Amino acid sequence: MRSPLFSLDRLGLFFLIVFIPIGELVFSRTILFSPEITNYPCLQGNGLVVLVALSKLTCLLSVVLLLCIWYADPGYLAEDDPECEVAQHCHVCDNTVVDFDHHCGVLGTCIGSGNMKYFILFLNTVSILCLNVCVCSLLCFYLSCVASSAGGVLGAVNTLEKIKTIALKNVFSIVFTIIGIYASLFCGFLAIFYDVMAFRGTFSYKRRKYPHLRGHCGIVFRRLFTLRRNSSREALLH
Ligand SMILES: [Zn+2]
Repeated sequence: MRSPLFSLDRLGLFFLIVFIPIGELVFSRTILFSPEITNYPCLQGNGLVVLVALSKLTCLLSVVLLLCIWYADPGYLAEDDPECEVAQHCHVCDNTVVDFDHHCGVLGTCIGSGNMKYFILFLNTVSILCLNVCVCSLLCFYLSCVASSAGGVLGAVNTLEKIKTIALKNVFSIVFTIIGIYASLFCGFLAIFYDVMAFRGTFSYKRRKYPHLRGHCGIVFRRLFTLRRNSSREALLH
């Protein structure tokens, strides 16, 4: 049974496809183009251009990779397909998948030979995006506090009234800092975890279980630009 392209399981994936560009747009408008960041001497010239380009590029790549995960066949085997030694049954969606790693509850699909490359690249890309959001928001908050008081951050928040004023003025930088810290830690950990597994050739359940099946990251990233839907077993294995 192949998963349909549109189903309630994929709500999390569709949410991310919509949320990431909107979040990036709000981040650009409120943080990257804020007076604190644009007037910061260290970012004059190419510094700000690099940060904006990094933000837009990682946002675009993240959405493209999510669309690839959404469309790609994870590596489903049909019932009449011959046995495959790296295939494993997924008990969540009741499919047998070549190089099955896990069933992703957030994205609503199995992660296997057909979409593992997009999954790993997405984790790396979104980690860079979140790290950029975190660092820029923190810098914006710091610069705003410094501009508010001659005593720096501690001088700016030394009374309850000042804390309330600073918090209201910097609501976007505080929210983006918190989201950035949590998201970059979570995605960064997963990205490193999967990078190491891909490098060591232990990127699927069977390849972790049986050392003689381990390969190298080239197996994961072969045919990077070939999107497959309803692919044959032979196309997935070679
Ligand atoms: Zn599954």
